[in-house]
Amino acid sequence: MTKQTCSLVVLPGDGIGPEVMAEVRKLMTWLESKAGLSFDVHEDLIGGAAIDAHGVPLTDEAVARCQDADAVLLGAVGGPKWDNVPYDIRPEAGLLKIRKDMDLFANLRPAIVFDALADASTLKPEIVKGLDILIVRELTGGVYFGEPKGISDLPDGQRRGVNTQVYTTSEIHRVGRVAFEMARKRQNRVCSAEKSNVMESGKLWREEITKLHQAEYADVALSHMYADNCAMQLLRNPRQFDVLVTDNLFGDILSDEAAMLTGSLGMLPSASLGLEDAGTGRRKALYEPVHGSAPDIAGQGKANPLATILSFSMCLRYSLDQGLLADEIEWAVQDLLGAGLRTGDIMAEGCTCVSTSEMGDTLIKALDAIRKAA
Ligand code: NAD
Repeated sequence: MTKQTCSLVVLPGDGIGPEVMAEVRKLMTWLESKAGLSFDVHEDLIGGAAIDAHGVPLTDEAVARCQDADAVLLGAVGGPKWDNVPYDIRPEAGLLKIRKDMDLFANLRPAIVFDALADASTLKPEIVKGLDILIVRELTGGVYFGEPKGISDLPDGQRRGVNTQVYTTSEIHRVGRVAFEMARKRQNRVCSAEKSNVMESGKLWREEITKLHQAEYADVALSHMYADNCAMQLLRNPRQFDVLVTDNLFGDILSDEAAMLTGSLGMLPSASLGLEDAGTGRRKALYEPVHGSAPDIAGQGKANPLATILSFSMCLRYSLDQGLLADEIEWAVQDLLGAGLRTGDIMAEGCTCVSTSEMGDTLIKALDAIRKAA
């Protein structure tokens, strides 16, 4: 049997980034020996590590490699060491550059509550147990980028701040397509959130999502919701949602709200997707945990690697067409949490506290056990 070769660029970054990424590399080795995959990995620098080596937070050569790869895996960037570097070459500028250069317009943020962690949420376990939402946030348009923007002085001595919320048909359609396609691989339901009651851009958003649905995705159940009501519904009855698609501003807020339903930063993966290549059908894609570089625990073996491992599992599902392997990894995470294994951030009474590498090793054992039982 010929092995599927997957070309990946790995950017571990700073702080706990290299520690959590090392656990993903263990998983890759397991997949190579047990799942018939072969990984062609190029590792490069981003963030503070790239500033130290090259004077910039991400080189053009690194971006070019990312553009050519099947997918990019990122750890995290930043830390106190680089607090005083000039603003335009700060570590986070490397993140903005890669997202912009690869035109990653759709941000995918799953909010999943593993049964064993249902008590970690601030909501009642019976409200969040079994939660599995995917938020698709438009990432490169809307009010964060719209023109005109700026702060100006008025003749009467006041100052005026302006940002512009603006969307075009094609921007709405391309992120809408991602949401509908994701829904088809899940429970086949999309809820679109905007403020069409008070914003013209919201009215356009609702009309264009509806048109796209009728033209190409009539098999998917579509509902619409005002974003403010959506914020309330996420707390009242979060399990009513499957895929939630929304713009950049509302997505920023709603995805953080949904993340908190799950209780822990160390468990949250994300993906950012670009356009499909017309020839290969491959989407540019970047996978990264939601958390930052956690300088307070870096180098101590305390970091939870599961957010990065679950980001890699999204990569298997969405970029490498390996949904079954992604399922296996998610079952293994479920199993090890069920067996009471915890890193410090998710530690609970009666559980066993393990290090970053012990968590990675346990995941491999849990995968072996799943294979054995199959
Ligand atoms: P952070 O996410 O790094 O840490 C917040 C808190 O959560 C800390 O107490 C940390 O120890 C804990 N934490 C985070 N991830 C964890 C994990 N995997 N396991 C266990 N505990 C974890 O956010 P911050 O402290 O605001 O930022 C630290 C640095 O990270 C800053 O330089 C910031 O700019 C940068 N940052 C980077 C990204 C990114 O790379 N995408 C995102 C956010 C922040």
